[in-house]
Amino acid sequence: MLRVTDIACELIRRPSVSPDDSGCCAYLADLFTQAGFQVRHLDFNDTKNLWVTHGEGAPLVAFNGHCDVVPPGPEDSWKFPPYSATIEGDTIWGRGASDMKGPLAAIVVAMLEYVQANPNHPGTLALLVTSDEEGWAYDGTGKALKTLLDEGTKIDYCIVGEPTSDNTFGDMIKVGRRGSISAHMEVRGKQGHVAYPHLADNPIHRLSPFLTELLAIHWDHGNDSFPPTTLQVTNIHAGTGAVNVIPNLVTIDFNLRYNTMLSADEIESRITKMAEAYALDCTFKWNPSANPFVTRDRNLIGAIARAIIRETDKTPAEGTGGGTSDARFFALHKIPVVEFGPSNETIHAINERVSIGDLEACVRIYKAAIEDLHNPAGI
Ligand SMILES: [Zn+2]
Repeated sequence: MLRVTDIACELIRRPSVSPDDSGCCAYLADLFTQAGFQVRHLDFNDTKNLWVTHGEGAPLVAFNGHCDVVPPGPEDSWKFPPYSATIEGDTIWGRGASDMKGPLAAIVVAMLEYVQANPNHPGTLALLVTSDEEGWAYDGTGKALKTLLDEGTKIDYCIVGEPTSDNTFGDMIKVGRRGSISAHMEVRGKQGHVAYPHLADNPIHRLSPFLTELLAIHWDHGNDSFPPTTLQVTNIHAGTGAVNVIPNLVTIDFNLRYNTMLSADEIESRITKMAEAYALDCTFKWNPSANPFVTRDRNLIGAIARAIIRETDKTPAEGTGGGTSDARFFALHKIPVVEFGPSNETIHAINERVSIGDLEACVRIYKAAIEDLHNPAGI
């Protein structure tokens, strides 16, 4: 049986910056085919997706992971080359070690070992892997999942192997995520000479009171599962560069991370109405990229939490913080989904790395969660 370190290193050595999978899916497809799993490629444009199953019928317990990584940045700043998968003591170094080729390897080993020990297990065990989670994610998990669901596949539970551990291994599972919506706003005025302002219309001045009100909005207090909604301005551009020209246009970008007390429609409509109240000559381009969600399914949360407690003797917190992840696509289709994996300390950073001990614990935790979900109440 392959060890989790072998598979993690094989994956890390492939420089799979999204959406290029550098052969990761083919490598995984081979492993699963040899172990008697059904393997299906669901590729769209330049994105590779893999759907792997074993067994049939309900309950269908699916894992989800991505084999793409973010770029390594300046390679000479790394202690070891980012795609060398160097092992030093208990640590594997390399881009994707923790996000998420390490935990993806742990999922693979958990699935292979579970099926080897339980060839006639009840229900179905599955894995959906994509090569575009870190990029635009247009052709990744979302599209592959929709294809499967449209064909009638019913997924009962999903575990995403994102690195969720915060300060110590096993201290956090993610049971939800905030929503994210970005806006690109253009406010038009009339260009002119600063000495003749009556002949011009300064869009920066027009934007200013609107922006003050926008930043002062108190969206909500948050709720049991989520912190309050926040808004951050990320870009403002205006001006010709000359000090004596009133510009004719100002553009501004902002993003909201919002909770389940709001919807993207409500946010759009409130901000659009505010702009109307200020009589701004403006247009908005909205990009609602993720809806907020929270999983309430205690079977799923319980299965992963019990497995973590058995491993670490500590009860994991149930969090909703951080950025978005592919869990959102499962939530969109009302599939109970949780995320659990190793430490998030070095994700996307120079010198990304992961503890081998933590990956081996992940294997045991994922395996225990599968057993629990396939055999509710230990029957
Ligand atoms: Zn990730």
